[in-house]
Amino acid sequence: MTLGRREFLRNTGTCVAGASALALGFIPPRAQAQETRQYKLLRAKETRNNCTYCSVGCGILMYSLGDGAKNAKARIFHIEGDPDHPVSRGSLCPKGAGLVDFIHSESRLQYPTYRAPGSREWKRISWEEATDRIARLMKDDRDKNFIQRNEKGELVNRWLSTGMLASSAASNETGLLDFKFARSLGIMGLDCQARLCHAPTVAALGPSFGRGAMTNNWVDIKNANVVLIMGGNPAEAHPVGFKWVMEAKIRNAAQVLVVDPRFNRSAAVADFYAPIRAGSDAAFLLGVVNYLLSHDKIQHEYVQAYTNAALIVREDFQFHDGVFTGYDAAKRSYDMSSWDYERDEQGFAKKDLTFQNPRCVLNLLRDHASRYTPELVSQITGTPEKDFLHVCETLASTSVPDRTATMLFALGWTHHTNGSQIIRTAAIIQMLLGNVGMPGGGLNALRGHSNIQGYTDLGLLSTRLPGYMNLPKDSQQTLDTYLQASTPKADEPGEVNYWHNTPKFFVSLMKTLWGDHATAANSWGYDWLPKWDRSYDMLAYFELMHQGKVNGYIAQGFNPLAAMPDKNKMRDAFAKLKFLVTMDPLDTETSNFWQDEGVYNDAKPEEIQTEVFRLPSTCFAEENGSIVNSARWLQWHFSGAQPPGEAWSDGHILGTIFTKLRALYASEGGVCPEPLMNMQWNYRDPEEPTPEEVAQESNGYALADIQDATGKVVVRKGELLPDFSVMKDDGTTSSYCWIFAGSWTQAGNQMARRDNTDTGLGNTPGWAWAWPANRRLLYNRASMDPQGRPWDPRRQIIEWNGQRWVGADVPDYPLTSPPGSGVGPFIMQSEGVARLFSGHSLVDGPFPEHYEPTESPVTGPALGKTVRHNPVSRVFADEKPRMGDPEQFPYVATTYSITELFRHWTKHSQLNAIMQPEQFVEIGDRLAGKLHIKAGDMVRVSSKRGYIEAKAVVTKRLKRLNVMGNDLDQVGIPCHWGFKGATRKGFLANTLTPAMGDANSQTPEFKAFLVNVEKV
Ligand code: SF4
Repeated sequence: MTLGRREFLRNTGTCVAGASALALGFIPPRAQAQETRQYKLLRAKETRNNCTYCSVGCGILMYSLGDGAKNAKARIFHIEGDPDHPVSRGSLCPKGAGLVDFIHSESRLQYPTYRAPGSREWKRISWEEATDRIARLMKDDRDKNFIQRNEKGELVNRWLSTGMLASSAASNETGLLDFKFARSLGIMGLDCQARLCHAPTVAALGPSFGRGAMTNNWVDIKNANVVLIMGGNPAEAHPVGFKWVMEAKIRNAAQVLVVDPRFNRSAAVADFYAPIRAGSDAAFLLGVVNYLLSHDKIQHEYVQAYTNAALIVREDFQFHDGVFTGYDAAKRSYDMSSWDYERDEQGFAKKDLTFQNPRCVLNLLRDHASRYTPELVSQITGTPEKDFLHVCETLASTSVPDRTATMLFALGWTHHTNGSQIIRTAAIIQMLLGNVGMPGGGLNALRGHSNIQGYTDLGLLSTRLPGYMNLPKDSQQTLDTYLQASTPKADEPGEVNYWHNTPKFFVSLMKTLWGDHATAANSWGYDWLPKWDRSYDMLAYFELMHQGKVNGYIAQGFNPLAAMPDKNKMRDAFAKLKFLVTMDPLDTETSNFWQDEGVYNDAKPEEIQTEVFRLPSTCFAEENGSIVNSARWLQWHFSGAQPPGEAWSDGHILGTIFTKLRALYASEGGVCPEPLMNMQWNYRDPEEPTPEEVAQESNGYALADIQDATGKVVVRKGELLPDFSVMKDDGTTSSYCWIFAGSWTQAGNQMARRDNTDTGLGNTPGWAWAWPANRRLLYNRASMDPQGRPWDPRRQIIEWNGQRWVGADVPDYPLTSPPGSGVGPFIMQSEGVARLFSGHSLVDGPFPEHYEPTESPVTGPALGKTVRHNPVSRVFADEKPRMGDPEQFPYVATTYSITELFRHWTKHSQLNAIMQPEQFVEIGDRLAGKLHIKAGDMVRVSSKRGYIEAKAVVTKRLKRLNVMGNDLDQVGIPCHWGFKGATRKGFLANTLTPAMGDANSQTPEFKAFLVNVEKV
């Protein structure tokens, strides 16, 4: 802008006048405040951190005052986006923009408090009283109920009557302490938020490609030609990550397709939107598979070289009337022995590269998917046939080598009783199109919580160990039996089959857990690990709690009363506990489950005998540590202030209770003290381990000089491991989580790196550190043909330099295996290739199949079968009476998140509460017309399990669909309100949802269930 002399004088005159008026005190206070705001950062300390909400992991800069002098407590007064961050580049969404209000929320807990049995109030207590009492209660319960041997006399060392729910936003370092704390005591009921969000993703992507994580990364979305958003709504749930979708539109003229029950905010900026009935995604996607195969729209060379399409399946494997071979209806499970390849004398899978053999995987898949014709898909899903075909054609355009499609999904695909198989179907589509391993391709699971990827990596699930190893089960009584079952043999000769290193990862873990107590003579302390007889996942464990079989529970940074399905049943389950401990920065519904909140929580405190300890913990802004974003980046953050009041870090709370438990066992003795007493807890202050020492422990150390194959010492005793390739199975290395090896090396903390140089195609390998081995794009060798030529020269990300693989990304391949070596690019797979047919890996079938949700409006047969529901989904007998039918509950409901609120956390933040102060539900205009409901009317939405009341938003975003010849209306239920926080009180949305789970991961079916709607 150029200013003329007259304007210049006018403007400067105004400024001078303004300054004079200010000096004379004539400016009103509000204007004075505006004048002084420009100096807000003067004398402030700047601290780097990450947003605590979703797993885009946006960088933030926190500004605090208080110079650290005695009695000058730092206080964060401003937070803004970090402009250097390669993903967020200074942006924050409405949730991130409200972070400072979260830190200073009126709901922040200041002191430990206690609720006595039958009491109606909280009472303040000291940390000493609280931790003494908790340790006492835990020890008494453990001594009374610990199971050393099962009925068969097998050593199992487990404790079932007290459980623990680990967080989803706490740091990795806290996660390591959670694991050591719980497993040293033998706790089996250990689970985390992953169970409620992306567990089906891991169950599906692991068997498909080798690892269960997002294949590409946020920035890489910009390289796509087609973006399919289905089973997610990133414009609202991951707004800053969504900017890379817009970048793909701008840079590549990418076609963005949205398939969703609602015309949501992602759809609003997409090129094409198709409606779908909630719960019918597998039918839609299997229809796409059928389209690609029947129209020969597959990338042939990729499919032949990089998938198991040519492998031959056993004769006795069949599919009939909705079930695969080996089904046992009484047990609701499969004998999977026929789900395998034909094998030669050496045990390798047979193959037919000509595809003449009808038992080839590709031919069986073609047959299996052929039932999903466009007509039938349209009838099942309610998607108009022409819309369905448009999605098919657009995806099919990427079957050529130089075009890619990426798929973005989240809980819309996971929250189903066949969630894992929905994601498997998507994986199959991407394999057929040759889109896996390609920049701009892949299957991108958008993780919800800021560190739920990390908590999954750390093995905080009931039958898991860190780094995607399994906890041993009862029948694996010896280390040899366990390792034999856990270490796969190659299905094809010459393949990398990286999991053959399992013994190295496992023994290194055991050395971390038991230190010098772990020796070859005692199988590295194998007996001290608890063994499992069945899954004690959240659904199963709360079922036991409801049956009165659980006495104690610890909820860490988690609000299960609001998060688990069937809230009224949950409240009744909590009321059967003897003691409940919550560790949280906020005052949650869970810690107050016993409060009488009228219609919002109809409890009778005097009848509830549970002792409750409400322990205040620090939040993200008050701790150092690392969290893992959805793209597997471990990002280190720093504390910018002290916590409020007497709040402690989670590590401090766990360390103190752990130390007190040990002291009790030392002084009194007790049942099976060895795992607890032998657990390595050698921190400088055992009551308060520092994040730095824990992070190094997680990476791992050389416990002796480590030599390479030539005898040269590559790591000296006592040094941090440079990566997982140097790990040994002879007790000379330790590492808690093998995939994190390399995150903190002799060169320092790799997670804190800040070089945002783009090495090509949006890769920034110098920013933070990604598992595994700092790779940013998984399976990147598959972006080139077997001879090492890129499928698309514009998308070349690695290359062979004559001696080794190099490039913009760390190659996901043996560095010295040359082009043409025949080594497959999916190095974690025993076949070396991606799996169209998944063998024994999933419990509900090696090919995906559409099954109706547990509560479904479709009551008759379809797809030529009578079996309508997933025959092995998680169903508890006493849940059946809590299921509704379409006569009584004629509408399909689906839950979701909105952009201004994050689960049940942001309702405690003033800014977010102002933006979305009151609960609402979305109802299509045609249904509203039928029920005489106007926008703003109060409505009651009820399911077989309870009801909620909320304001109606009447919208055209929810279309009436035609499903199997009948009209069908859908209802949208945002899930953010409750009876605590800064918003108006509301109903917990999970009052409505059913407690049925995915067959593989037991993740509840939040996304498709039946309701009725009435005007109040
Ligand atoms: S909620 Fe997600 S997108 Fe929003 S600021 Fe936080 S990390 Fe970024």
